[in-house]
Amino acid sequence: LLRNAGETEFHQAVHEVLDSLAPVVAKHPAYTDAAVIRRLCEPERQIIFRVAWVDDSGQVQINRGFRVEFNSALGPYKGGLRFHPTVNVGIVKFLGFEQTFKNSLTGMPIGGGKGGSDFDPKGRSDAEVMRFCQAFMTELYRHIGEHTDVPAGDIGVGGREIGYLFGQYKRITNRFESGVLTGKGLAWGGSQVRTEATGYGVVFFVDELLRTRGEGFDGKKVIVSGSGNVALYAIEKVQQLGGTVIACSDSSGYIVDEAGIDLELLKEVKEQRRGRISCYADERGGSARFVEDGSVWNVPCDIALPCATQNELNGRDAAVLVRNGCTVVAEGANMPCTPEAVRVFGEAKVGFAPGKAANAGGVATSALEMQQNASRDSWSFEYTEQRLAEIMRGVHDRTLATADEYGAPGNYAVGANIAGFIQVADAMLALGVI
Ligand code: NDP
Repeated sequence: LLRNAGETEFHQAVHEVLDSLAPVVAKHPAYTDAAVIRRLCEPERQIIFRVAWVDDSGQVQINRGFRVEFNSALGPYKGGLRFHPTVNVGIVKFLGFEQTFKNSLTGMPIGGGKGGSDFDPKGRSDAEVMRFCQAFMTELYRHIGEHTDVPAGDIGVGGREIGYLFGQYKRITNRFESGVLTGKGLAWGGSQVRTEATGYGVVFFVDELLRTRGEGFDGKKVIVSGSGNVALYAIEKVQQLGGTVIACSDSSGYIVDEAGIDLELLKEVKEQRRGRISCYADERGGSARFVEDGSVWNVPCDIALPCATQNELNGRDAAVLVRNGCTVVAEGANMPCTPEAVRVFGEAKVGFAPGKAANAGGVATSALEMQQNASRDSWSFEYTEQRLAEIMRGVHDRTLATADEYGAPGNYAVGANIAGFIQVADAMLALGVI
């Protein structure tokens, strides 16, 4: 605790994993002998840097940049960049720690890392975002590379930002090194389905979970938090599979649309105009209403998909969801449910899919993008989506089988932690004490 003082979210993420690992450690003393867990909790490298840039009014702005290269036992560090005012070293470390297990769980050759900045893109012009990205990459470029560390997007970092970051990397290094970033545009090295991958992947995972109960999405009412990249494409896939999404949100409140969300309108508001969720209700009229500052978890549903941010769903929210008949919760975001919420779901026998497993589709498709870049190939949408669906099925089945093997049948959280851990731990043993 003292080594990482004040890093609340990092402590939370570490506790959540370590709580699951007792049976594994008991079975394999080699992990303890080689201090694998203690080494896993210490990032291999942490980089913190100044990002100075000039805003549209000519003022110099100073932000802080981070890249935490957490674990490279399985492959180059891989994980997104987050631009949000709440970013600090504890947040980046929690995300990097989670990412290490998630990436392992995909079965793909990628280590774990994460980064970002406390820069707030909201209300900034395109030119300001570009200048910020260029300043950020002017330091980051020396730490990354296709065989070293491969960043992608996260909150506040989408296709536009990846473009500016890649452009600056290319300018500084004089190399068109496609494999250095993922989430690129289709015309310059991106992969089909990367934009959709995390949201689609969450829904594929839930579909597998429902299948174990002999059910499907047909006729199910679904609520989603957030209305960013993960949320939008989770909504899209739920609709394609026959479910009805009746609510989603942003940081100003939520909308309910009993007729089912009009995804075209929602995408136009959020992706084209970068507008607020309230605009959706204003323009949709009739069936939709906006609830300012309200909690989307108050809307009765069968399935809830938290897709916004960490600790957005607490014990009280969980109790409301259970009381309203929700039977499945899958984390599209990273650690959106507090430990108390997870406990409430466990007691109520709600099917709970942790982010490490449920939202692994984004990074898995990033690994597919790296594969295409390495072979200078580009795959069709259909083929890439099919690969994503297979990967999510694999993550689901591995998680469930591991939970079973270690005496926690049906507990996806325990299964994901143990399955993710074993693969990294074995690689760390093989590579020696480094
Ligand atoms: P976006 O920036 O595209 O969207 C984030 C959404 O969450 C927005 O609607 C935003 O609302 C809302 N939000 C963010 N912070 C808060 C907050 N503090 N309180 C309330 N609402 C908030 O991000 P993504 O969709 O990419 O990421 C969402 C989550 O999914 C994150 O936890 C991320 O780590 C995780 N994730 C993302 C992956 C990806 O491929 N993009 C992969 C795996 C996980 P507002 O606009 O009002 O801020």
